[in-house]
Amino acid sequence: MDLVDGGRPVVLEAVERAAQESAAVIGRTVIAGVVNLAAEDPPAGVDCPQGHRARLAGVRPKTVRTLLGGFRLSRGYYYCDSCRRGFVPADERLGVVGTSLSPGLARACALAGAEMPYAKSGAFISTVTGLDLASASTISRATKTQGGRARDLISTELEAARPGGPAAAFTHLPDKCYVVMDGTGAPMLPRECEGRQGKTGERAGTREVKIGCLFTQTGVDPVSGQPLQDRGSVSYISTFEPAERFAHLVKAEYWRRGLDQIRQPIVLGDGARWIWNIADTKFPEATQIVDYYHAREHLADLTKLVTPLLDDPTSWEKTLADQLDLGDTSAIATAVDKLNLDQNAPALARPANTEVGYFTGNHHRMQYAEFLANSYYIGSGPVESACNTIVKQRAKRAGMHWTIPGLDPVLALRTLHQSHRDHTLWPTPQT
Ligand SMILES: [Zn+2]
Repeated sequence: MDLVDGGRPVVLEAVERAAQESAAVIGRTVIAGVVNLAAEDPPAGVDCPQGHRARLAGVRPKTVRTLLGGFRLSRGYYYCDSCRRGFVPADERLGVVGTSLSPGLARACALAGAEMPYAKSGAFISTVTGLDLASASTISRATKTQGGRARDLISTELEAARPGGPAAAFTHLPDKCYVVMDGTGAPMLPRECEGRQGKTGERAGTREVKIGCLFTQTGVDPVSGQPLQDRGSVSYISTFEPAERFAHLVKAEYWRRGLDQIRQPIVLGDGARWIWNIADTKFPEATQIVDYYHAREHLADLTKLVTPLLDDPTSWEKTLADQLDLGDTSAIATAVDKLNLDQNAPALARPANTEVGYFTGNHHRMQYAEFLANSYYIGSGPVESACNTIVKQRAKRAGMHWTIPGLDPVLALRTLHQSHRDHTLWPTPQT
């Protein structure tokens, strides 16, 4: 058989499409059977959820939209005189109460919507299935509904978390665990930012999302000696709520995973004050580390600031970077003192002192030589990737502006997905 026609590989493509279509025909027959079974021959009376007797008040039509297209069905609508409520048992059996989307299509819409813009999600689903299944607004609604479920599920789990963790959390106890905390601004519609400018140091037009990233580390790379994150050990927390609530959530996630059984906890973050407040109060036993690349950025900023007073800024910065590697933050303070800014450049004295304070104030969090000797992560991959993965890749694209009720469900879905925990929201059905 010639698989190519005029240089174009056509046979596989045609067979693939035909096979998908014939599988869909079989699938539609099976689904139609299930849908009709759920709805057929409604009895005259059934028990309501409270156990009263409810009567059949009518037979009403509904279209259920599935991954294989729409199905029209007629199902019994019941009314309970005691509860004064109507309900539809067939919808409950099919998992379509208050929605026309089947559980499978709702899941596909929500996963796509959490991953890419809604219009693109619809096009993506129709390319994969060959069917025009969901508009952008359907996907947006499904994402919000499923994301709301995800947020509720995460909250319920965390409220139930207790110290000591699940006994079976680990077959081999990892040696170290990391709690990485960071914040990033999500672009908001103006009405979400009214009266908030500057309050918490956010840029106008954004609201801060706080991200927690937790993972474990047992070994180091045998070749490079670099610390190695344990495979599949990462989980995330995300919230728009203030630091106090975030602190509670991070600690609960730590407990939920049983990380409090691990010998060496480490908190990793940039210089933000709220991060170290949480570290001090919620993780007092943890070693605190300022993200190394962040510290180097501050050193570059300081160098730029005092450049007018330096003969050779590059070597000045290099010398101090070497001292920073050794954890000698006082060398930075001494080098700035020597410039005698009060005399030589009074306007620079205050900003330079602020930068110096960043180093001296974080001295114990910058003992990089010691940290490396203990095979600790000192940054910055896990710090950066936490915000990238959960927030930036979806929410911070050109032209995007969100509301909190619009974005929070997306973040909840991404949090579960990136933590490899979709199955908690959509358990595999038993057949
Ligand atoms: Zn009732």
